[in-house]
Amino acid sequence: MRFVADVMLGKLARWLRILGYDVAYDPNADDEQLVQQAVSEKRILLTKDRHLVERWRKKLRLNGYLLLTSDDWREQLKQTVAHFGLDIHNRRHTRCPDCNGILKEVAKEAVRYRVPFFVFTQHDHFVQCSQCGKIYWAGSHYERMNAALDELLRDELSKGENANEVDNP
Ligand SMILES: [Zn+2]
Repeated sequence: MRFVADVMLGKLARWLRILGYDVAYDPNADDEQLVQQAVSEKRILLTKDRHLVERWRKKLRLNGYLLLTSDDWREQLKQTVAHFGLDIHNRRHTRCPDCNGILKEVAKEAVRYRVPFFVFTQHDHFVQCSQCGKIYWAGSHYERMNAALDELLRDELSKGENANEVDNP
């Protein structure tokens, strides 16, 4: 399941990437570019723009779309997760929040001079974005993100086995 997010949904795009989903996001894309990308790359459009949906409904029907109702990225993330029954456990931290690239394991020695020294000494596992080259490690930042996600998506998490039985209007 791949997405393209409209210009108003930068935060949502980041957090969906942190959950591991492929989300295209260009803060400069206009409506027509968004629709084109959705169609040509078979992506589901995430948008806050009702007029965009009304204007392009026929094209958007091909891959689907979701009209977000809240201005708050937290509510948007909840709505998206619930609507599509997204996997919020197993893909976390597999994509770069900055650029949507796939993260790949990289040898510790290879990052010696590319991360702060105290990080290098305290961590053994590093991943690198295959697109922008940014290096990540499972430090306190990851823990804070995971805690924020668990708190935010508590209702979804508690559904457990029934996670897919969400209402899909
Ligand atoms: Zn990246």
